[in-house]
Amino acid sequence: MAKYVYFFGGGKAEGRGDMKEILGGKGAGLAEMANLGMPVPAGFTISTELCTVYYQHKGKFPPGLRRDVDRAMARVEKIMGMQFDDPVNPLLVSCRSGARRSMPGMMETVLNIGLTSKTIPALIAKAGNARFVYDAYRRLIQMYSDVVMEKAAGIEPPEGKGVRQQLEREMAKLKEARGVKLDTDLTVDDLNGLIEVYKAKVQEVLGKPFPDDSDEQLWGGIAAVFRSWNGKRAISYRRIEGIPDDWGTAVNVQAMVFGNMGDTSATGVAFTRNPATGDGHFYGEWLPNAQGEDVVAGTRTPNPLNEATRPAGTEHLPSLEQAMAKTYKELVAHRNKLERHYRDMQDIEFTIQEGRLWMLQTRVGKRNGPAAVRMAVEMHKEKLITAQDAVLRVTPAQLDELLHPILDPAAEKQAKVIAKGLPAGPGGACGQAVFTASDAVAWAKQGKRVILCREETNPEDVEGMRAAEAILTARGGMTSHAALVARGWGKCCIVGAGALKVEPEHKQFQVGGVVVKEGDWLSLNGTKGVVYPGQLPMVVGTEENPNFAAFMKLCDKVRRLGVRANADTPDDARKARQFGAEGIGLFRTEHMFYGKGAEEPLFKLRKMIHSKTLDERRKALDELYPHIKADIKATLEVMDGLPVTIRLLDPPLHEFVPRGEDERTRLAESLGISLDELAARADALHETNPMMGHRGVRLGVTYPEISECWLRGIFEAAAELIQEGKKALPEIMIPVTCDVGELIHQAALVKKVHAETAAKYGMRRIPHLYGTMIEIPRAALRAAEMAQAAEFFSFGTNDLTQMTYGFSRDDIGAFVPDYVEKKLLPADPFQILDPIGVGELIGLGIQRGRATRPNLKVGICGEHGGEPASVKFCHKVGMNYVSCSPFRVPIARLAAAQAVAEDAEKSAKKKGKKLEGDK
Ligand code: ADP
Ligand code: MG
Ligand code: MG
Repeated sequence: MAKYVYFFGGGKAEGRGDMKEILGGKGAGLAEMANLGMPVPAGFTISTELCTVYYQHKGKFPPGLRRDVDRAMARVEKIMGMQFDDPVNPLLVSCRSGARRSMPGMMETVLNIGLTSKTIPALIAKAGNARFVYDAYRRLIQMYSDVVMEKAAGIEPPEGKGVRQQLEREMAKLKEARGVKLDTDLTVDDLNGLIEVYKAKVQEVLGKPFPDDSDEQLWGGIAAVFRSWNGKRAISYRRIEGIPDDWGTAVNVQAMVFGNMGDTSATGVAFTRNPATGDGHFYGEWLPNAQGEDVVAGTRTPNPLNEATRPAGTEHLPSLEQAMAKTYKELVAHRNKLERHYRDMQDIEFTIQEGRLWMLQTRVGKRNGPAAVRMAVEMHKEKLITAQDAVLRVTPAQLDELLHPILDPAAEKQAKVIAKGLPAGPGGACGQAVFTASDAVAWAKQGKRVILCREETNPEDVEGMRAAEAILTARGGMTSHAALVARGWGKCCIVGAGALKVEPEHKQFQVGGVVVKEGDWLSLNGTKGVVYPGQLPMVVGTEENPNFAAFMKLCDKVRRLGVRANADTPDDARKARQFGAEGIGLFRTEHMFYGKGAEEPLFKLRKMIHSKTLDERRKALDELYPHIKADIKATLEVMDGLPVTIRLLDPPLHEFVPRGEDERTRLAESLGISLDELAARADALHETNPMMGHRGVRLGVTYPEISECWLRGIFEAAAELIQEGKKALPEIMIPVTCDVGELIHQAALVKKVHAETAAKYGMRRIPHLYGTMIEIPRAALRAAEMAQAAEFFSFGTNDLTQMTYGFSRDDIGAFVPDYVEKKLLPADPFQILDPIGVGELIGLGIQRGRATRPNLKVGICGEHGGEPASVKFCHKVGMNYVSCSPFRVPIARLAAAQAVAEDAEKSAKKKGKKLEGDK
């Protein structure tokens, strides 16, 4: 039989940290910690490959597995000095799931396996602590009946009727009857009685007794973990996260250590750095006399790990640093070792059994955008990682979080706080309150923004959490389920707002006399953990973040691809420069005819368009000219010598035909023609297919005077700036070309206007470049000739995609979603550049263009220029720059840096493989 079982413990392991694919993340982490000599309870991992085999064989284990498991168990027994199912010295184990990538709370774990009427008395005698044994046993019944007897058996109880919830209600009843608040306040007798109630309840709900056999418990647990891979929650989580269904989960069987043996025992969760802010201090939570999920489940408010990170409002709680100073120091040493070893923030689980520390898990910790950026910057500063590592540590989506809005601080000052909680996911959010996950999904589908308000969340809520703008819970700490999941998604989240009285049955919560009902607006500041009623305005918050600037510097150091912005106004240009654009890759002059202050130029443009004779048109152009020059000059001035690619006029003519009666009258008057004549001229402008009509360079060919006007505007604006002692670098871009002839034709006009303008200003040369947009497939194919006339190409990928697919940009809504859903297309090609079709044209265009003109400058304009996968494509085909909307510039800078770092990583791996092969 293939190897399916990997042992770990006693300072060594059969597996390694880089074997996640086989061992799952948890198994790999346990193996690695064991190899590092850390105190890991012995155990073994049954590989993810067996999960696949298990499903292929319709839920049967291959023969031989039992033998391998028995052997591994014997090694565990030897190291731990206890025996499984032994009536004198019994070993208990846990059965833990663990996929390649962490899926927090999505799959199952069962603790305390091996407690039976045979082993219980022995354990009580040995531990001298009956309370602890009964506590462990009631937990086993809760977890096992839920995970193995109900979920794995495929039983889907109605909401609130699951066996676990029913058992939890029994415990709540008991606590109420005893007048105690915490589990830990229950006595031995209470627990003993509870166990009998539990057993009866299990029999009643599931129609089966709770198994009193260690072996049955063990194999039931193993099978249940494998089955949890195909549980409903796990499947929907995989869909959201894009995790393939065939990866499978591993099962880790591990000797139990007990944090619930009294006050010198404890359990905790920690992060080597703060996952919500990136702060470099060791950060975490712990509970004395507790087991397993207690910290995460939010049933008791956890204590802070140390003094340096103690949150406000926890002054009455002891930190681990205070309560168990020596053990804490040990834990810090492990923290340091793990971070140095993994060179990344780790998410750690530990348990202390009667003063002795055990490490139970380590994995790369999830973090939100602001934390990812800060950690990347600081770890690089600490020389833990290289600049290339650093840029790979932040995903474009995480960087995007920093570019996203926060509540307007000014408005916040005026607003009244209704509740405070822990800041689990930073940023701001506004939305309408909803109280169940399914409502969150339904409301979001209707296009509403919602805030999911819960007592606490559990893995069943993930889809609702996903759909919500933000999550607000009354219970739970910074490592609670809600916090963990929200952080992974970079979602605004506040947990543990203890003053909230959440009443899902009435779809409302109460807090300090205020009632918030379903549909009421709330505003959350997830950075501070503050809740406001109503809808506060939001603003973008990068300016206040020094790590953002430092991180972008790292990106710039690594990347080779230039990044420019598409900007049409001086305001946009300023924004673009703030975001780090190195020029403008697309300046559309049509912009001046839209929006505020556009009335006058628009009127003059209409006049020009409706002109019939050359004379009329010249006159109209003369009137329009000052606007054009002023517009171009203003933006060139802001860019201060950085290149600005100015596209010559490319108007959708039909959009400029006036509709209103007044407007038509005014226009006819100004042109000195009748209304009928104007109507006739407007009709003549009508095109059947304006997308492929009389536009772009075609206008310039028919009416060279239009091109001349724009060219004059460009040259005069530049000349004036230069004479004012400023800098200007315009790049003249001819749109909608398909043949070099068009470029030659327009180049003659450029030459002429340049000569005239230079003479007028007494200059020998006005700096500029001449080039074209490549947006028609023919232009890409004939690039060799196009490059004879053009000094640069800018791929206009919106139109190029339209023309290559024959998909009308404006009409794809009707069918492209179907194509994507039916997997006929991997993605909407207007969002993510098609690398093999449109991409092939681009590649060819660059290659042929550079064969003619080796220093041909090549860029991309169009929304693809800010989409990370497309940016990486542009890097790969050797473009000089990408250009995108100003807000996307940081994303493009990051993607460009990642392209370099990924290349380097790949070739390093190849080299490594080769070296291994040489050995
Ligand atoms: P998850 O993936 O949901 O975190 P885990 O397998 O890590 O599930 O286990 C749940 C909890 O039980 C964790 O707090 C873990 O530390 C604890 N736990 C798991 N195995 C053991 C063990 N052998 N001894 C003590 N605690 C354990
Ligand atoms: Mg869990
Ligand atoms: Mg865990």
